[in-house]
Amino acid sequence: KFISIEGIEGAGKSTQLQFIADYLRSHGKQVVVTREPGGTLLGEEIRQVLLKPTDQAMGEDTELLLMFAARSEHIKQVIEPALKRGDWVLSDRFVDATFAYQGGGRGIDEQRISELASWTLQGCHTDVTFLFDLPVAVGQTRVEQRQQQKDRFEQEKQAFFERVRICYLARAKAEPQRIKLIDASQSIEAIQQQLSQHLVQLVDN
Ligand code: C5P
Repeated sequence: KFISIEGIEGAGKSTQLQFIADYLRSHGKQVVVTREPGGTLLGEEIRQVLLKPTDQAMGEDTELLLMFAARSEHIKQVIEPALKRGDWVLSDRFVDATFAYQGGGRGIDEQRISELASWTLQGCHTDVTFLFDLPVAVGQTRVEQRQQQKDRFEQEKQAFFERVRICYLARAKAEPQRIKLIDASQSIEAIQQQLSQHLVQLVDN
């Protein structure tokens, strides 16, 4: 099965990613943990290009195409081979992030992204996507507390993340079977309890 996790900055994805991986492994599953943009050597190089703050702004179409370039590598080199072997794939972000960030955030037409998605994905889709949702301001405060330099996206203003969040929530509403909405403003334990309830069902069938 193919699982992805999504959410705005500061939603606590990394902590929960580890929890999900541990849960699946303790239930006897082989799990490939990966991320986007990235997941392959070339994809990680593209990630660096995408995240590095630069003096010259990157065009939004360039950003979109680089995301899909990295994703194409990711699908062919990592995701599809793993699924063929019968492994589980757990990815920190997948195509929903592009609809949310490059669509909602940057304002690229959804139809345009859909066209690229059908071309690049060729039917590759997640079985379940966990969307870690929280108010933008709460996420921002968490990001501020990190001691590392902000990447190109993290430097965006609050309004950008509001648009990203709205887009994520709209996708969850449109596809409630696939996209499980998790309230990420709760305590880590409460979130993990909620996750476990979904995971029990996933590993059982
Ligand atoms: O998941 P993580 O926070 O490490 O993602 C790195 C950055 O890439 C984030 O700032 C995220 O907003 C951005 N991103 C994006 N569009 C995507 C995937 C990730 O803007 N499709």
